[in-house]
Amino acid sequence: MALRGGGRWARLGSALRGRSSGPRDAGGTPQHRDLREALRKIIDKEINPFVDKWEEEGQFPAHKVFKILGQAGFLGVDKPTEYGGMGLDFSYNIAVAEELGNIRCGGITMAIGVQAGMATPALTRFGSHELKKQFLIPTIAGDFVACLGISEAGAGSDVANIKTTAVRKGDEYVINGGKMWITSGTQADWMCLLANTSEGPPHRNKSLICLPMNLPGIHVARKIDKLGMRSSDTAQIFFEDVRVPCKNLIGEEGKGFTYQMLQFQEERLWGVATALTPLETIIQETIDYTRQREVFGQPVLHNQTVHFRLAELATEVELLRSLLHRAVALYVEGNDVTKFASMAKLKAGRLTREVTDSCLQFWGGMGFTSEVLVSRFYRDLRLVSIGGGTDETMLSIICKYMEILPR
Ligand SMILES: Cc1cc2nc3c(=O)[nH]c(=O)nc-3n(C[C@H](O)[C@H](O)[C@H](O)COP(=O)(O)OP(=O)(O)OC[C@H]3O[C@@H](n4cnc5c(N)ncnc54)[C@H](O)[C@@H]3O)c2cc1C
Repeated sequence: MALRGGGRWARLGSALRGRSSGPRDAGGTPQHRDLREALRKIIDKEINPFVDKWEEEGQFPAHKVFKILGQAGFLGVDKPTEYGGMGLDFSYNIAVAEELGNIRCGGITMAIGVQAGMATPALTRFGSHELKKQFLIPTIAGDFVACLGISEAGAGSDVANIKTTAVRKGDEYVINGGKMWITSGTQADWMCLLANTSEGPPHRNKSLICLPMNLPGIHVARKIDKLGMRSSDTAQIFFEDVRVPCKNLIGEEGKGFTYQMLQFQEERLWGVATALTPLETIIQETIDYTRQREVFGQPVLHNQTVHFRLAELATEVELLRSLLHRAVALYVEGNDVTKFASMAKLKAGRLTREVTDSCLQFWGGMGFTSEVLVSRFYRDLRLVSIGGGTDETMLSIICKYMEILPR
C-alpha cells in the first residue's frame, strides 16, 4: 500500500503544525479550536442525525463513519505524517476527544477512541515499519476497523492473569484462547492482541500481536447485549489454532504487558476527555428543562437546592478539566503521568455517575424515558468507571505511586 501524502487532512495538519502556539484557555489554543471546529462540522452532518437510528439498531456502521473521519485526518491526529497522521502532539488528540463528546451517545465516541487511541499507540511507538504500513496506515485512513483484545472472561482488572496463548511454531504463532468485551469486535479487520508468548513471570511473558480478524480459527461468538453504549458492538471472540506470522509481533517478545500499561495512559486520558462535554451538555440541558418546567407555581430551577446543585456539579467538571489538562501537558513534555492519569480517570468515573444521577432526578418522570439525552448518558457514562480499568484499579495505582500499599 502506498504511503499517503496529500489531501485535506494533511493540509489541516500542516497548517496547524506550522503556526506558533497562541494563548491557551479552557478551549485550548486557537489551533486546538480550529481542529475542534472542523470536527464539529462532521459530527453535526455525518453522525448526530443518525445516532438515534444506530442506537436502536444496536450498532453503527464503523467502516462508513471511520472512512469519513479518516479522510478528514481525525483518526491520526497525533500519529506520524509518514503513516498518514497529522503529526500533532497528544494535546490535539485530547481536543478531538473533548469535541467528540458532542456526539449524542457514548458508543460511537468509544469506538473512535479504540480506533484512534487505544489499539494503535504501541504499534506506532514500537511496531516495525512493515507492520505500520500493513495495519497503521489503513487504520488512520479509516479503511480498517481496529479493535483491542486485552480483557478475557476470566481476567479484566487482573490483566496479568490472561490465559490466551500464542505459541511460536516455526515462523508463526499459534493462538488459542478467547477475548471478552471487545469493542467493534464484530466489525473489526484486525485486533491488537495481548497473549502469553511464554511461561515466564506474568509481567514478562506477554506480547502484543497484530492479528487480522479474517484468519481461520477466529470465531466471533456473540454480540453482547448491554445496558448502555448500545450503538457500539461489543463481542466475545474465541481463537482455535489461529496461525499468524511472527513478524506481526509488535516490538519485542515478552514486552507486551509493559507496552499495554503505557498504552493505557493515553486510553485513560482520552476517556476522561470524552466525558467532559457530555457532562456539560447534560448540565445545560437540565438547566434548560428545569427553567421551563413549573412545579408548585415556579420553575424547578428556582429551587435553591436545584440551582446550587447544578452550580456545584459544573464546578466539579471544571476541576476535572483542569486536572486532565495538567496531566496532558506533563505527558506532552514526556513525563510519566500514570498517577495523574489514574486520578483523573477515577474522578471522571465518580463524577459521571454523580452528574448523570443528580440531573436525571431533576427531570422527574421524563428522566426515566428514552426520549431524553440525560437517560442515555446516565447509562453510557457508567462505562467511564469500567473501561480502561475500574475505579478500584485506579485507586490501586494511585496508592502504589503514593507508596501506601501494604507490602
Ligand atoms: C462496553 C465495554 C467495552 C469494553 N471494551 C473493551 C475492549 O475493547 N477491549 C478490552 O480488552 N476490554 C474491553 N472492556 C473490558 C473492560 O476493560 C473490563 O470490563 C474492565 O477492565 C474490568 O474488568 P472486569 O469486567 O473483568 O471486572 P473485574 O476485574 O471482574 O472487576 C469487577 C469488580 O471487582 C472490583 N475490584 C476489582 N479490583 C479490585 C480491587 N483491587 N479492590 C477492590 N475491588 C476490586 C471492582 O468493583 C470491579 O468493578 C470493555 C468493557 C465494556 C463493559
